Amino acid sequence: MSGSETVKEFQVERDIFSDYIQSRGLRHTGQRDLILQTFLSTEEHLTSEDLYGLVSKIDPTLGLTTVYRTLKLLTEAGLAREVRFGDNKTYYEHHFNHEHHDHMICTECGKVIEFFSPDIEALQDEMADKFGFRPTHHSLRLWGLCSECQAGNLISEPAAPGAQPRVRVRTAMH
Ligand SMILES: [Zn+2]
Ligand SMILES: [Zn+2]
Ligand SMILES: [Zn+2]
Repeated sequence: MSGSETVKEFQVERDIFSDYIQSRGLRHTGQRDLILQTFLSTEEHLTSEDLYGLVSKIDPTLGLTTVYRTLKLLTEAGLAREVRFGDNKTYYEHHFNHEHHDHMICTECGKVIEFFSPDIEALQDEMADKFGFRPTHHSLRLWGLCSECQAGNLISEPAAPGAQPRVRVRTAMH
């Protein structure tokens, strides 16, 4: 734990996590706490490797497996949610106190734009109704080029229809 000023941060989330850890009969550890704090301190979409890169700078004894398992626990506890951007990696973002949103992914620079449209949400529900389908959750993703990449000369060949889009989601730590 670095600096006592960060200890009181994210108290609600910490309590939720403690309760969950206890309900699972797991031990509360300083390492899990550090992973939680670090995760909550960034607004990025992070893979377990990204988060590992951040926390191992603070505590080099931390292993990738611990980070991976803790992210799973955070997801189960309702603090994190998994999101996929088509590059076969699992990203995590904040779930608790964060409204539902969807994503646009730039296949050139990997930027991820979050958006929310009540109209689109309503249309999706309408469409589900039409099929007698009861949706539990959804993830709408648009792939393409962000405004900066369109302005630059780096226009790449569009991926063939059906091909796996080339996404390298950029995070603050790379
Ligand atoms: Zn949506
Ligand atoms: Zn871009
Ligand atoms: Zn997001």
